[in-house]
Amino acid sequence: ANAVVTPKIHVLDPRLANQIAAGEVVERPAAVAKELIENAIDAASRRIEVEVEQGGTRLIKVRDDGVGIAENDLPLALSRHATSKIESLGDLEGVSSLGFRGEALASISSVSRLALTSNALDDPRSGFRVMAEGRGMEARVAPAPHPRGTSVEVRDLFFNTPARRKFLRTEKTEFAHLEEAFRRQALSRYDIAWTLRHNQKTVHQLPPGDSPAARERRIASLLGKTFIEHARYIERQVGDLRLSGWVGLPTHSRGQADQQYFFVNGRVVRDRLVAHAVRQAYRDVLYNGRHPVFVLYLDVDPDVVDVNVHPTKHEVRFRDGRTVHDFLFSSLHRCLAHTQPATNADETP
Ligand code: ADP
Ligand code: MG
Repeated sequence: ANAVVTPKIHVLDPRLANQIAAGEVVERPAAVAKELIENAIDAASRRIEVEVEQGGTRLIKVRDDGVGIAENDLPLALSRHATSKIESLGDLEGVSSLGFRGEALASISSVSRLALTSNALDDPRSGFRVMAEGRGMEARVAPAPHPRGTSVEVRDLFFNTPARRKFLRTEKTEFAHLEEAFRRQALSRYDIAWTLRHNQKTVHQLPPGDSPAARERRIASLLGKTFIEHARYIERQVGDLRLSGWVGLPTHSRGQADQQYFFVNGRVVRDRLVAHAVRQAYRDVLYNGRHPVFVLYLDVDPDVVDVNVHPTKHEVRFRDGRTVHDFLFSSLHRCLAHTQPATNADETP
């Protein structure tokens, strides 16, 4: 007789499917914080508070005063492929929200104990809490008063996925990553008030303010006074490309590329084309092996940039990469042309 049994095909239960998807985006506490903060920004919040325990492995809580989620929508918020941000492929072409995949909460919730509490009304006695339970991740909703806005609590990340948990590093390292994620977001929106707390201690408290002076205060508080003292403000527009921000002078370079922030339409990106343009611009003023510091904002028409390249959205694709590259290079080169080249005494290790 034939001993080979034909395997049966079956549909994965929702939790397992979400856990598999989580592998792509939820690699550590910092990734969770990034997703929750992006949701808070997309909800038009004015104030965002992040509270963390044990590097984020025990608790990550993000509380906002945004638009909230209507009671009827709460079960959907935690299910996969459910989003309020796009409806059609056409919407995706010009997407301006940070999220649009409708996967983050479902993924995070499948690998942690996640509770979302929200209130979409101005009545502070109103509000509901939702959690997704069991293999089927059925949403359970119960009344829970909350001021207008949303709080998402993520406890015990990876408690049910030991393979993932093994890759977590020390509390200090995980918190450093999470703080970096926070820093990027806080540098992307000066009009929002931010706080970050770790193990009951306030690490950052950033008042809102969009004026140049307020921006510089925020940068100094997040990246250090030296950064801003050795940077030059730049602003340049050519066609519909607009670049602004702080270009670190050659008098303040670093041994690592750890203070380089580049935002495209408010989204922090790590892009090869951008990195190349920057490297070229600094080539004549920095020693080999030294890395410049910068906080730069590129604003382009959403139609000419594709953000749907990778689930974490750290990569983007420009329709006309050459033009963007040349614009960046020439803007930075021109800004650096009249600066003094670095001397050894200027170097920060
Ligand atoms: P996405 O952000 O890609 O839409 P998410 O899984 O991150 O997917 O969130 C699902 C949906 O839940 C969002 O589209 C939004 O409608 C709602 N949501 C999540 N977080 C918040 C929040 N902080 N405030 C208001 N709505 C939220
Ligand atoms: Mg999201």
